[in-house]
Amino acid sequence: MHELSLMSNLLADAAAAADGAPICALRVRVGPLSGVVVEALRFAFEALSPETCAAGARLDVEETAPAFHCPRCGADYETPIGAYQCPGCGAADGELRGGNELELVSIEVPDHV
Ligand SMILES: [Zn+2]
Repeated sequence: MHELSLMSNLLADAAAAADGAPICALRVRVGPLSGVVVEALRFAFEALSPETCAAGARLDVEETAPAFHCPRCGADYETPIGAYQCPGCGAADGELRGGNELELVSIEVPDHV
């Protein structure tokens, strides 16, 4: 289950971004082609976060669609998995531009009073 090491990296990134502050929420973006199982990622978060400054934090997962750029008509489009044709011209040789990402989008830290 490589989600554990992936989540470990995300938590390290979050901790570095928070600069020592406690974290109340993390938002991560997961592409459908990343090979990451969201349920496993949540499990990894539950297992690892209590030992970090993200203890008790909320995990928001943003799941993206595969994104393509069509070299024929220049369209940028997103499609469900299994349907990769350009909606503009019907070409099926779009270049993959996104969908395999796993990244930390943002963190929330408590407001300082
Ligand atoms: Zn096209």
